[in-house]
Amino acid sequence: MAMRDDDAGLDGLLAGFSTGALSPAMHALVAAHLTMSDANAAFVAAMEGALASEALSASAPPLADREARLAAIFDARQPRARAIAADGPLPAPLRSLIGQDFEQLKWRSRLPGVKEHRLAGVAEGEANLYWIKAGRKMPRHTHEGSEVTLVLKGAFRDLNGHYKAGDISIADAAVDHQPIVDAVGDCICFAVTDAPLRLTGPVGRIVGRLFGRPQ
Ligand code: ZN
Repeated sequence: MAMRDDDAGLDGLLAGFSTGALSPAMHALVAAHLTMSDANAAFVAAMEGALASEALSASAPPLADREARLAAIFDARQPRARAIAADGPLPAPLRSLIGQDFEQLKWRSRLPGVKEHRLAGVAEGEANLYWIKAGRKMPRHTHEGSEVTLVLKGAFRDLNGHYKAGDISIADAAVDHQPIVDAVGDCICFAVTDAPLRLTGPVGRIVGRLFGRPQ
């Protein structure tokens, strides 16, 4: 799991997930992360446990009801099945968000070696799947809002570190980066942004129209 600047943003994301405060696309991204990686499972379980015990003491339920609720909490903490092997690149939370299996997705070519599947009906910001060829350098860009990326398959590297399947990368306006996919295999990512990307650098200026979004 990548450590560094991502961590503060990640804690906020996990807290938002536990309290149900995230948009549906962002919620599905975190849920998918939790099916793929144990790195933050303990944090989320602790958050959910704290929220549940707060709810239990606040409502002062009869004992039987309390036991039932604790049993439900315990069930929710059973080890999560690993999605990658059985289901291809799309963990169950993403499949239900998208409503399609991976094989059914329609991809659009954005740049040489970069294909995109844009999710329809995302209310705030946007959500995209990217399929990037092994060794491909993405255009250098920054962000007006935040870009949260979950690696589903393969790996990429940027100035913040190396992200492999199950890892979350968080980039905001302070991050001007150029992700580079590992040479060993294609990379498939799920990215949720709350504002359009702003491309920087000479390559960015040239491909900005291609990669940018219609306003
Ligand atoms: Zn980015």
